[in-house]
Amino acid sequence: MRRNVEKISPAAILESVIHITRNSDRNVLIKGMVSTLREMFDAEQASLYWLKPAPEGSEVWLLVSASRSGGVAEYQNIKPFALADNPAFMRCVETRRCFSIPAQQQTGKIRHIHPILSRDGVMGLLEVVGNEHADGDVRMIKGFLQVFSNYVQIIDESERDTLTGLLNRRTFDKNIGRMLSESRQAGDESASSDETNSPRRRGGARAESRWLAVLDIDHFKRINDKFGHLYGDEVLLLLAGIMRRSFRNNDNLFRFGGEEFVVALEPTDADGARAVLERFRQSVESYEFPQVGEVTISIGYVRIGSQDAPATVVGHADEALYYAKHHGRNQVRSYEMLVEAHKIATSALNVDVELFE
Ligand code: GH3
Ligand code: MG
Ligand code: MG
Repeated sequence: MRRNVEKISPAAILESVIHITRNSDRNVLIKGMVSTLREMFDAEQASLYWLKPAPEGSEVWLLVSASRSGGVAEYQNIKPFALADNPAFMRCVETRRCFSIPAQQQTGKIRHIHPILSRDGVMGLLEVVGNEHADGDVRMIKGFLQVFSNYVQIIDESERDTLTGLLNRRTFDKNIGRMLSESRQAGDESASSDETNSPRRRGGARAESRWLAVLDIDHFKRINDKFGHLYGDEVLLLLAGIMRRSFRNNDNLFRFGGEEFVVALEPTDADGARAVLERFRQSVESYEFPQVGEVTISIGYVRIGSQDAPATVVGHADEALYYAKHHGRNQVRSYEMLVEAHKIATSALNVDVELFE
């Protein structure tokens, strides 16, 4: 039977909005919105996709999918596809209106694609697979998505540093626990595939894991003193731009404070981590900063996942950074390599762990 929006009472709609916006965690909010809309329209499936600008046109990332049979699934590292490869999505983005076509896999069902609008254009898409929309359904979903989009934009702004637009320290503190547990899972999975003798493991290289790097501008005080604070700010802004271009979409970039930045690299092996950080260091060194000229950075980094506490991970990357600062600056140093070479001692850092929980 066709579900008609008139059957949903205004009180129920308001309750759903209250329920969805109760949480300020972006992921929980997205999951709540997708599953509520699926239920409300009695759809087979509802999925939320995010658009990210990329050099060759927008990329589409599947974030959350709710289905009648399978509950709600959240996707973290699923490979994106090019918007241009999906004509229905493309059409929806271009017209900024709901676009409906017959669903290929479910006979008699319709795929409705709704745009999620932001101030700057279309920021995502909601795909609903189900019955034909009744009068008023499209308007109702549009309204829902608008409330959702406004709310997500406010959350996004609160997670970012106003000068550089990178994620801020508060967001780091909020997310580091999750990044550590993801890293542990990745470690567990590759540990269990030890026996399989896969090509990556034959060389004896350790499993892929996430890495945390602390980056600090060298002699930044001198830049401020010589050129003034405004030029200092400009350097921070340009550096954030080089970071965005150098690292991947799934690497998380933070401005930690002042002229210090943190990068949480997506899972890779030791050589991969070293290479990406070294390439970034070189990009900064070779960049001609207007007026200021050459700026260099020092980097300390550590594998994450094997340690217990977030504060220990940051502390170890900091120790490697400290070593770099005291051995000539403009260099990338690995905590593990320094410990192996007995350049620094392993330490059980006595930092206040509660700070990160
Ligand atoms: P080192 O190579 O050892 O890191 O030396 P440094 O001069 O970079 O480090 P120090 O910690 O002595 O100085 C950091 C300076 O960064 C001091 C502070 O005035 C400046 N700073 C911090 N935040 C900002 C900011 O938002 N804008 C500007 N322009 N300067 C900032
Ligand atoms: Mg500095
Ligand atoms: Mg500093």
